Amino acid sequence: NTATVTVLGLGEMGRALATALARAGHPTTVWNRSPGKADALVGLGATEAATASDAVTASDLVIACLLDAASVHQVLDPVVDRLAGRTLVNVTTTTPEQAGEIAAWADAHGVTYLDGGIMAVPSMIGGPGSSILYSGSSDAFDRYRPLLDLWGESTYFGADPGLASLYDLALLAGMYVMFAGFLHGAAMVAGAGVSATEFAERAAPWLAAMTGGLAGYAAVVDGGDYTVPGQQSLEFSDLGDMVAASAAQGISTEVVDMVQRLIRRQIDAGHGKEGFARIFESIKQPA
Ligand code: NDP
Repeated sequence: NTATVTVLGLGEMGRALATALARAGHPTTVWNRSPGKADALVGLGATEAATASDAVTASDLVIACLLDAASVHQVLDPVVDRLAGRTLVNVTTTTPEQAGEIAAWADAHGVTYLDGGIMAVPSMIGGPGSSILYSGSSDAFDRYRPLLDLWGESTYFGADPGLASLYDLALLAGMYVMFAGFLHGAAMVAGAGVSATEFAERAAPWLAAMTGGLAGYAAVVDGGDYTVPGQQSLEFSDLGDMVAASAAQGISTEVVDMVQRLIRRQIDAGHGKEGFARIFESIKQPA
């Protein structure tokens, strides 16, 4: 199976995706707004299109890896009549709402639409640990699955085009808050002369071990009973000491204050003896 494919956008990620396709022997056409990004790909046998219109016309499958939703419209609105009857796989990061809007736009113009969320950095594409989330047209996913699998593990979440993006951003929420927590810890010990590198050596295995607790929290949330025995209570989880120690170091307490506020709202509502997972309720019901 060597489907012909077009990649629009040759930034760091677009180049990685196009490289995997060209290396696997797919006839690959590439296009980028500014010149000079296609040379290595041409060396691998890809064809550089002079215009977005030429690029779109070259293949039944068009991949968009641009900056954001606005750039997708800037590139594709003028060539939408050429796109009709083809499949657009858009792996540009957008919000779920923007993915829905682009899907409706594609549908109105006779374009089959699959949205993708890339859970990898460019150097991981085609290697272990790379995972790409999809939603939208299941026909497109099934048809091009072997090609999509060249980039990483492909998972289809459903027909709602915003699902892949929602899942992508939810996973990134966990990542960013964890990274912020790590950097907060590094700032706490920095005052004691501990380097961030030294702290990371201890934090990495600690945080990795703590991910073992996720399934337990999930079971409590899904069960809807925060009183099940064996949980760490909200009162026990009070971050007062952590906030005080951070303030004593003269550093910002914003990262830990955020978690402390979610805990306090549940304690103040009379749930202090219940499990820590109950902060899920603080998150679900904005203050
Ligand atoms: P880059 O900044 O390296 O590249 C951005 C690309 O978008 C370039 O090809 C740029 O063209 C193009 N572009 C921007 N604005 C426009 C426009 N108005 N019209 C036409 N082309 C435009 O970003 P990446 O390649 O890293 O990222 C691409 C997408 O992939 C983003 O949505 C990003 O969120 C997503 N992604 C990236 C990851 C990463 O680790 N890099 C991880 C997961 C997702 P030009 O060269 O002309 O400026």
